[in-house]
Amino acid sequence: MNNEKYSEYRLSTCSRSSLTEKLENRSFDLVIIGGGVTGAGIALDAASRGLKTALVEMGDFASGTSSRSTKLIHGGLRYLKQFEFGLVAEVGRERAIVHKNAPHLVIPEKMLLPLIKGGNYGKFGTSMGLKVYDILAQVKKEDRRVMLSAKETLDKEPLLDKHNLIGGGYYAEYRTDDARLTVELLKTAAELGAVCMNYCEVNKFNYHENRISGVSCGDNISGEEININAKFVINAAGPWVDTLRDMVQSKHSDKKKLHLTKGIHIVVPKERFPVKQSLYFDISDGRMIFAIPRGKCTYIGTTDTDYFGELGEVKAERVDIEYLINAVNSTFPDIELSFSDIESTWAGLRPLIHEEGKSASEISRKNEVFESPDGLISIAGGKLTGYRKMAQKITYLVIKKIRKKSNVNFKSSKTKRLKLTGGPFASRDEVKRFTLEIEERLSGNDLSKGKATFLVSTYGKQTSVILDCVEKQNETLNETTLILSELCFTVENEMVTSSCDFFIRRTARLYFDIQSVSQNMELVSGKLSELLSWTEEQKKQDIKELKAEIEKATCIRIS
Ligand code: FAD
Repeated sequence: MNNEKYSEYRLSTCSRSSLTEKLENRSFDLVIIGGGVTGAGIALDAASRGLKTALVEMGDFASGTSSRSTKLIHGGLRYLKQFEFGLVAEVGRERAIVHKNAPHLVIPEKMLLPLIKGGNYGKFGTSMGLKVYDILAQVKKEDRRVMLSAKETLDKEPLLDKHNLIGGGYYAEYRTDDARLTVELLKTAAELGAVCMNYCEVNKFNYHENRISGVSCGDNISGEEININAKFVINAAGPWVDTLRDMVQSKHSDKKKLHLTKGIHIVVPKERFPVKQSLYFDISDGRMIFAIPRGKCTYIGTTDTDYFGELGEVKAERVDIEYLINAVNSTFPDIELSFSDIESTWAGLRPLIHEEGKSASEISRKNEVFESPDGLISIAGGKLTGYRKMAQKITYLVIKKIRKKSNVNFKSSKTKRLKLTGGPFASRDEVKRFTLEIEERLSGNDLSKGKATFLVSTYGKQTSVILDCVEKQNETLNETTLILSELCFTVENEMVTSSCDFFIRRTARLYFDIQSVSQNMELVSGKLSELLSWTEEQKKQDIKELKAEIEKATCIRIS
């Protein structure tokens, strides 16, 4: 932990009642609604500047869009086509900053953009586009784009269609785990004194002299009502931003509203689509698709279609999956993916700002802040990659408003150099060395291949705590003792309260190792039941919810 002084703010499921007390009895500078990456980023920026900060999330942390993205920290190459130079420059530069602050979690990933005969991209245009991308994002010389011949491209990715290939672009991006990034941001914020709580749903705004003065929440676990007083309420509710804006007394009068678009991903076993590296390829309708290797799988995405359904019920439909299968099969002729190859899927909603007459893919990914007359500050749009800048914007606004009324001084933003929990690692080389040490520690035990890489990219240096815990109990290190130790760690430090939290948001096993979810569901639910003193009924409910999530991720394969 960076700051033992604030260990009482730790995201421990066992500390919910003491955190509730803090939420109720203190007066905060700001309370943030939404524990996705936007809210988590704001909590960290605000707490690091000395603002009294609270954050509440109605479900699990990152259960909204922030666990359902393409999981890239990227500049958004395609936005160059829309002449969004400012956006590309801002998020492009952010990539290196976020990487430095969590090099185990935000990992450099070279991207191959194949160029094909009759495709949407020519050699010259792509070369210039990638060059501009590098310049805007201030990419280091050694990482700048390289243009490849057809042969060089095929060497990098032999699965491509050699008859069509005319060359390729090879450029720098970063990959991450969106939900883990969100949770580590929250843990770092908590270490700096932010009070953060999941399963705590805002259902009403409280008022003082016609101004919003706090929120009233329901604890979705204990059923208790919690009232939180704050000078400012920040609505960072992602796809739910308008739902909350509709709850204020002074209905929002501006014309700005959200435009939700759905994006899905499919996961297939590596053997069925064994790409050697990450690819970004164009398809016949002009859109671009990613194929990214991860552990034992390759995942493919995404789609971009208007969404008008229930916000909590978004899922991959047959038509979405078919679109991605066709995208792969038309670019990689020998692969012949089919529905039966799909191991898992996920779907998310982009909370974009509506622009009249623009289609889903054309709408800008810029973020915007809007304020209601009674003081609700809402932020929407943007990208995972730009969370830090969005956070700075909100904190700056809040500090400006506080200063208008009183002469308080706050520290300047520190997040550019603030290492996230899981580290600190000085560099990617240190991460590699640490992974080798963990590999060494695991050797000779009955564990699946790649476990050290999984543990370090998931928990960073916290891996040692998890392994120490097994050893302290004089237990042998194996798949069972390790998963139980991971579970205890996430309950004590990451507010895991259900099997879904653990398998989906903390470890992403539901997406990238779905067999292990079915294999370990009884074990994990049983241990949770013991740790959280559940009744038999609660345990049954936990398993039922997990099975429903497995069904949602896989039903297309079964049908
Ligand atoms: P969310 O993550 O949805 O968080 C909002 C939270 O508010 C939710 O968890 C919700 O439960 C909570 N909430 C709502 N109402 C209440 C209430 N009443 N009380 C308490 N809590 C409440 N960006 C990138 O940079 N890279 C990518 O590769 C990328 N890929 C993407 C792919 C797809 C398919 C999609 C959909 C988006 C992608 N994005 C990407 C964009 C990025 O994922 C989003 O911009 C980002 O996750 C939005 O985060 P958020 O915190 O604003 O929203």
